[in-house]
Amino acid sequence: MSRFRMKTMCGDGVIRTLIPPITMDELREYLPQRYRLEERGHRTPCWIWVGGQKGGYGVMRFEGRPRTVSRLAWRAFVGEIPEGLEVCHKCDVPTCFRIDHLFLGTHYENMRDAAEKKRMGGLFGVEHHSAKLNPEKVRFLRAQFDNGIDPSDEMALKFGVSYNALKKIQHKQSWKSVT
Ligand SMILES: [Zn+2]
Repeated sequence: MSRFRMKTMCGDGVIRTLIPPITMDELREYLPQRYRLEERGHRTPCWIWVGGQKGGYGVMRFEGRPRTVSRLAWRAFVGEIPEGLEVCHKCDVPTCFRIDHLFLGTHYENMRDAAEKKRMGGLFGVEHHSAKLNPEKVRFLRAQFDNGIDPSDEMALKFGVSYNALKKIQHKQSWKSVT
């Protein structure tokens, strides 16, 4: 299969010839060349997607169709997104795909989080976290543990909690009311 190249203005303003990624490994190399740093009043600068947009979100073609860049970044650098969960922005900048500005949440949490930030004047920094665990996610985690998958640092990162918090859920020392 022939791979076309495209001239792309990269985040540093330099035009480079990049080959659109096909595999996850290629995506991991590609994404860090497609952002520009922007100070948006958070602890760390946002990684603003340099490329196409749809509905305010960064989009790029991958696996045969346009996909949201923040979701792709999560998949490339953290792992697959559990079904039913969304990649939400702590920084409230939809075109940002900096991993530590993202967290997993349900659609409901995403909406509530956005509404909350709006109500509070949008002054939250990156440390603001209204969504960590909820009964839905705890049930999902317990199902993983029941299937023999043990808590890991990667899982902790994915859910925005500590490794010990996962251990406690596994041993039913926390979230006891969730069955
Ligand atoms: Zn950001």
